[in-house]
Amino acid sequence: MATTVAQPFDARTDETLRSLESGGQYKHLQMIRSPMDAVVRMRTAAGKEIEALCFCSNNYLGLANHPEVVEAGIEGLRKYGAGTASVRFICGTFEPHERLEATIAQYMGTESSYTFVSCWNATEALFPTFCEAGDVIISDELNHACIIDSIRLTPVIKKGVFKAVYRHGDLDDLEQRLVEAQENEEITGQVWVVTDGVFSMEGDIGNLPELRALCDKYDAKLVVDDSHGHGVMGPTGRGTHEHYGMVPGSELGTVDYFSGTLGKALGGGAGGFIAGPKRGTELIIQRGRPTLFSNALPVTVACSANKAIEIVMREPRRVQKLKDNVAYARKKIGEAGFEVLESPTAICPIIVGETAKAIAMSRKLLELGVFVIGFGYPVVPEGKARLRIQMSAAHETSHIDALVDALKKL
Ligand SMILES: *Cc1c(COP(=O)(O)O)cnc(C)c1O
Repeated sequence: MATTVAQPFDARTDETLRSLESGGQYKHLQMIRSPMDAVVRMRTAAGKEIEALCFCSNNYLGLANHPEVVEAGIEGLRKYGAGTASVRFICGTFEPHERLEATIAQYMGTESSYTFVSCWNATEALFPTFCEAGDVIISDELNHACIIDSIRLTPVIKKGVFKAVYRHGDLDDLEQRLVEAQENEEITGQVWVVTDGVFSMEGDIGNLPELRALCDKYDAKLVVDDSHGHGVMGPTGRGTHEHYGMVPGSELGTVDYFSGTLGKALGGGAGGFIAGPKRGTELIIQRGRPTLFSNALPVTVACSANKAIEIVMREPRRVQKLKDNVAYARKKIGEAGFEVLESPTAICPIIVGETAKAIAMSRKLLELGVFVIGFGYPVVPEGKARLRIQMSAAHETSHIDALVDALKKL
């Protein structure tokens, strides 16, 4: 074989990258030179050094650069070093892990919780560990990629697990899938229903009380990944279940298992968790491959995330400030003549139409010192390209006014 001939991978990858670039879908990484906050210093993909108002991070409560959160991480680093150099079950469970998991359980109102290096890992552990032959997993069609991949992986690891998908938010369609599961003689085990709490592209939410009621009717377990809801939804920021009043003891019932991230509102570092009854987290510790064969959450991050959650519980006014900011921004953006999708979350998508337009608008906004990302096809449907504005409790009214002024200049 001639050595000058490109191997298949090289040739097809060059082609893929070229076509992404020419189709305007190539992701150019922007670089931040300061802590994540309402205002960031950055070097743009075009190489310019600027200061910009950040409206595209998931730093919903402004905790990523909170002095106590930073200090807790530094103290953790001093006390425990860089990390565990181990998976949890060998010698990787440190005191801060136990403390963090107790704090998460308290915050979530669950019997227990267990952490991972990311919510992606937590969710990937969930279904392949919990499911057995004869189970079925029924999933909302717009669920997060980590849920989709966890479900895809499950029948590979556990033969005989079934999967089904219902139309986004469509409870009648879900009931149809539940009836089909009931009638399928091969489905003899547990029925699982899974949804995002907050759907991040539209900013809409799963109807958890109705999902709970359907799950009860068909004896199914309800799993909710509320990564964009924790710290944001409900009067004290517990999540989408709290938004609906599904607190412990409520007659609306509760969610069976949650997954969530520590990389958004709850400190913004990294890490994810599963929260729910102890038998589930115990099984994860015994059998969950992403925790049996992969390192523990770094101790520094466990310390800073623990502090972040303590602050959320101690200062519910942060959650209220976020809600006030969202209400103010929606009103002002609407008054400026833009169409903002209705949402009870901190996500404010402005529909602009064509993908190229969203990208051009986002570029122009950055020139005006406002950092907002444009999403187009294929992430969202054709013709529904949008600017996704994400609010934070770190923003002041003047920041929001500056955002609206920049939008008006477009
Ligand atoms: C962001 C997000 C994740 C990923 O969380 P990581 O901790 O960064 O892996 C998972 N699920 C949902 C629903 C998310 O929005």
